[in-house]
Amino acid sequence: MDLHQRIKELEMELEILKAQPTVRELIPTMSAEVKDSNPYSRLMALQKMGIVKDYQRIRDFTVIVVGVGGVGSVASEMLTRCGIGKLILFDYDKVELANMNRLFFQPHQSGQSKVEAAVETLRKINPDVQFEHYNFDITTIDNFPQFLNAIRTGGLNGSAVDLVLSCVDNFEARMTVNMACNELGQNWFESGVSEQAVSGHIQFIKPGVSACFGCAPPLLVADDSLDEKSLKKPGVCAASLPTTMAVVAGFLVQNTLKFLLGFGQVSDYLGYNALSDFFPTMSLKPNPHCEDSHCLKRQAEEQAKQKLLQETQCANSKETEKEEEVVVHASNEWGIELVDETSPDLNGDSCSDHMAKSGLKYAYMAAPGTYESQPPESSKVDSIEQENNSTTQAPSNPVPDNSDESLDDLMSQLKAL
Ligand SMILES: [Zn+2]
Repeated sequence: MDLHQRIKELEMELEILKAQPTVRELIPTMSAEVKDSNPYSRLMALQKMGIVKDYQRIRDFTVIVVGVGGVGSVASEMLTRCGIGKLILFDYDKVELANMNRLFFQPHQSGQSKVEAAVETLRKINPDVQFEHYNFDITTIDNFPQFLNAIRTGGLNGSAVDLVLSCVDNFEARMTVNMACNELGQNWFESGVSEQAVSGHIQFIKPGVSACFGCAPPLLVADDSLDEKSLKKPGVCAASLPTTMAVVAGFLVQNTLKFLLGFGQVSDYLGYNALSDFFPTMSLKPNPHCEDSHCLKRQAEEQAKQKLLQETQCANSKETEKEEEVVVHASNEWGIELVDETSPDLNGDSCSDHMAKSGLKYAYMAAPGTYESQPPESSKVDSIEQENNSTTQAPSNPVPDNSDESLDDLMSQLKAL
């Protein structure tokens, strides 16, 4: 590179740095103290609200983000603002003005590698996070071992990372992440946004436990004789919307936080159809005929683990037989369970008392018995079809039951109004 040109570039970088505010001091311990200068007060409030048991544990975790495009860059920013311990970024692309319809990158970063530009911005947002970046294509034979190594030893203190987030835009890269994670038994999330920019999804893949990306590949893929990139027509590119990308990135990081910090329920698959605001969920079991040999190996390990667990449960059941004899209602169709009266409950006395003392009240209180007939919360919708059906089911609601009245009676009442 021409020396004068390089000096000009460095001078420009210096001007940009001068124009930006200084990075804040490091914060060794997350504090819940409510003051304007504490960047973690609102995150630590999740503990006070009873959502997360120990928020500061987020600093123990390392997440890899593969692909720092429209979804990956936003997901990285979210994790950085949440105070993740370490973030490792992979991408081989450069920032272009054509990316400006999306969030995160700025015009002055055009020409910079995506990973370098991202780390530069993220470090300023939260210097407490450790960053590592790789400006290469993970799908090549030379780079794949480095990618494997980053998963295996990239965690804090040289351990394996806690999660891999795939935010790539092509089949080959997805299969590469899949292959690496199957080989290492690494949990990961696959994510994607459609070429029309109006739908997307996330999928949680636990090797051996749930279907891997190879267990149920897309219906149509390029074979070995065809380079996937050659399918792109010149002058035609996929559409993208910052809105759809941000929704998918939000789903991805929300489920990442739930998985890492142990709250709520992690979705196995969550889709997003922007045109009808439809969010299908489902769970996929691994394919016993998957072409990935490591997937089959992980499946065999999981089956052995489940068998051992069953045997242990059988052994323990004899010890608990006496306790079971005193159970009055053996079947519990509606999932009713006893709750400690002293535990906080939104409609319970302790909370109401507390609110009364604080001068607050609920704007709406459910009438007694309103929810008594409501079935237990569905633990999992197993298919898109079920999800479709669930939207057409009549919900339990507090409307009085007028089933004795005929439709004609009701019509005549309406006309009389
Ligand atoms: Zn598989």
